[in-house]
Amino acid sequence: MNYKYHPTIDGFYGDFGGAYVPEMLHSNVAKLRDVYEQIMDEPEFKKEFDELLRDYVGRPSPLYLAKKLSASHGCNIYLKREDLNHTGAHKINNTIGQILLAKRLNKKRIIAETGAGQHGVATATVCALMGLECIVYMGAVDIKRQAPNVARMRMLGATVVPAESGSKTLKDATNEAIRDWINNAEDTHYIIGSAIGPHPYPDMVTKFQSVISEEIQSQLQEKTGKDHPDYVVACVGGGSNAAGAFYHFLHDDRVQLILAEAAGKGIDSGESAATSILGTKGIIHGCMTLLMQTDDGQIVEPYSLSAGLDYPGIGPMHAHLITSGRAKVHAATDDEAMNAVISLSKDEGIIPALETAHALAILERIDFNKNDNVVICLSGRGDKDLNTFIDYIGQN
Ligand SMILES: *Cc1c(COP(=O)(O)O)cnc(C)c1O
Repeated sequence: MNYKYHPTIDGFYGDFGGAYVPEMLHSNVAKLRDVYEQIMDEPEFKKEFDELLRDYVGRPSPLYLAKKLSASHGCNIYLKREDLNHTGAHKINNTIGQILLAKRLNKKRIIAETGAGQHGVATATVCALMGLECIVYMGAVDIKRQAPNVARMRMLGATVVPAESGSKTLKDATNEAIRDWINNAEDTHYIIGSAIGPHPYPDMVTKFQSVISEEIQSQLQEKTGKDHPDYVVACVGGGSNAAGAFYHFLHDDRVQLILAEAAGKGIDSGESAATSILGTKGIIHGCMTLLMQTDDGQIVEPYSLSAGLDYPGIGPMHAHLITSGRAKVHAATDDEAMNAVISLSKDEGIIPALETAHALAILERIDFNKNDNVVICLSGRGDKDLNTFIDYIGQN
């Protein structure tokens, strides 16, 4: 595959990105970057990665024309079915790439952070596949709301460690994972689950996920005779599914790129995770990006009913795409996302993840033309959210 869109050599996308890591991780991150750059040019790596994506993950994932959804929005809406991947979301594309990299680095121990548990499950899965030790940090609040995924990780042989600080969600799990990495830099690879973190992570995760847009190009060509959509819509936590769905269209101005953030209880409610709207420039978890912070630089606790979007930052590539005007952002509240879950379930027979539902919920804010081809990245399935759905339906 041709990769056309890159950060600078230091990992910057405009003003955002870079590698702001403590001294003790410096040589580790530099080695990771070197080996990453090397393997991306190796045909054997590409072959192993592609074979696992095909035979283990089940790629290509289908591109499905959702007729009722299309009719209700007056355009052609295609769902890129990442929910049908092994383990139920797009996260596995990245963990397959990173576990192959960890093997090249001769690492024996894998750590990861997780919010909704999807990245933890995807990491535990590839560790089982490759026979590597796996430790997953997860906020104590998320452990409660995502119990089925915690059980899955344990069945796969991973150790799940609760993060008890702060809001006890994704940001706190990430802090714990970074702490572990600093203490065990020699034998441990940290599999970051989104397009965030110090360079080369945002670029690496983006390129491992870019198989999503690579497939969209050929699938659309086959279905519509055009190799590009008019819109690509994706939800954004840290930004990995969006990065993958956008990647091969980043240079193509015919394609409008739309991000859906979690407004939580409302953008101005004080309980929100609409990072790009509420955020300002600063450093979080190793990169310069947009993040929710107080005037004196303390991170503001984010909130979203959806554990996978409950993060106070956004990937640096997205920060650049948004501030440069290339991508547009809309935010959906918890209630709007829940309504979108219910609609897609009833209309199309597909129960989406609560994260994904944010991308569906913002469709009504866009004025589509009748002939527009719109691709929505259906990032994951809703099985893991059943407890949240049951509680919500009980209260409403
Ligand atoms: C993790 C997750 C997300 C959010 O993460 P991104 O890195 O922004 O893609 C979205 N949808 C699903 C199903 C997830 O598991």
